[in-house]
Amino acid sequence: MTSNEMISLHDAHVMKTYGRYPVAIQSGKGATLVSPEGKEYIDFASGIGVLSIGTAHPKFVEAVSNQAATLAHTSNLFYTEPSTRLAQRLCALSGMDKVFFSNSGAESNEGAIKLARKYSTDRYGTERTKIVTLQNSFHGRTVTTLAATGQDVFHQYFYPFTEGFVHAIANDFDSVKNAVDENTCAIMMELVQGEGGVLPLDVSFVKQVEALCREKDLLLVIDEVQTGIGRCGTFFAFQHYGISPDVVSTAKGIGGGLPLGAVLAAKTCSEVLSPGTHATTFGANPICTAAANAVLDVLEDGVLSKVNEKGAYLRSKIEEMGFSTRGLGLMIGIAVEEGTHKAKVASLIEAGLLCITAGKDAVRLLPPLNITYEEMDRGLAILKSVLCGG
Ligand SMILES: *Cc1c(COP(=O)(O)O)cnc(C)c1O
Repeated sequence: MTSNEMISLHDAHVMKTYGRYPVAIQSGKGATLVSPEGKEYIDFASGIGVLSIGTAHPKFVEAVSNQAATLAHTSNLFYTEPSTRLAQRLCALSGMDKVFFSNSGAESNEGAIKLARKYSTDRYGTERTKIVTLQNSFHGRTVTTLAATGQDVFHQYFYPFTEGFVHAIANDFDSVKNAVDENTCAIMMELVQGEGGVLPLDVSFVKQVEALCREKDLLLVIDEVQTGIGRCGTFFAFQHYGISPDVVSTAKGIGGGLPLGAVLAAKTCSEVLSPGTHATTFGANPICTAAANAVLDVLEDGVLSKVNEKGAYLRSKIEEMGFSTRGLGLMIGIAVEEGTHKAKVASLIEAGLLCITAGKDAVRLLPPLNITYEEMDRGLAILKSVLCGG
């Protein structure tokens, strides 16, 4: 199928919920992707932070094909080895106590929200259910995670939304403190707001929020769907911030391209979700968890330790072009004139560089964590020619 045939056939039969670019991708290797007509793209997007070890990494291919040829699925009524190993490794890498496997970011956040509310209900009764999140946050597309998301544009059409979420101002501790009352059970936030514009929270603010959670026995829930799995230079971004969350949700980069999410709980609350209170049919899928083990193998084999260095390299080259940047590790926002980011991303894609918009003014870069310097330089050359007009 040619790109044009694909685009018309697809648009005739798939619901138009995405503003797609007129680009089809057929194959790739590392951070280089190829269209059906052979046009090459440098991948500074990784899907949306999903292809953490790039496209078609040999370890990923081997793990997925072996597992597909061995066992694709059992229900969660039985045990399998890939998810067992993955759970152990995630706990070791994060210092968390136990894991629940889901299939997406929104579903991980649903699990985190259920865990927080049950923790509070078990201890304090059924009234203490409010969760404070931040303005400009993004937590997912289910009816409950839309309610958790602190952006008004998401709060339309789908009424009634789940009750019990209040949105405080990021990096304003008084706003968070004032939003907490006797019926609050948790505070949930991203440490770098991704969809909101690649906006890192201040370390001092995050530590104050942590202290407030300890003082009032609120669960500190960190949404690491985008920031986790090495994206920000440490395995989880909370490790960079030096805090100890009660609950961490993750997804995007964990399966290296396959759908997988996880909710991690610290000892404070790892026994809260008991048999019958939470489940999902596909959770802990052997192929997805085998893929995640391959992702961890590659990250541990010298990739995670170079994320900050690569992020600093990209940012210094972009700042030399005259732009300011923000972010953490290989989660980078290039600040452009407000409102021009969408057109700029479209031009960059057309010129052969895949990147993403974020917030009101950012060109967002989420390259594969194992991107090479040669691939970064090819992407930087496209950035320069498009953003600086050649
Ligand atoms: C992408 C994202 C989600 C939603 O993840 P899905 O897999 O699309 O459900 C939730 N939280 C954050 C911070 C995200 O970046």
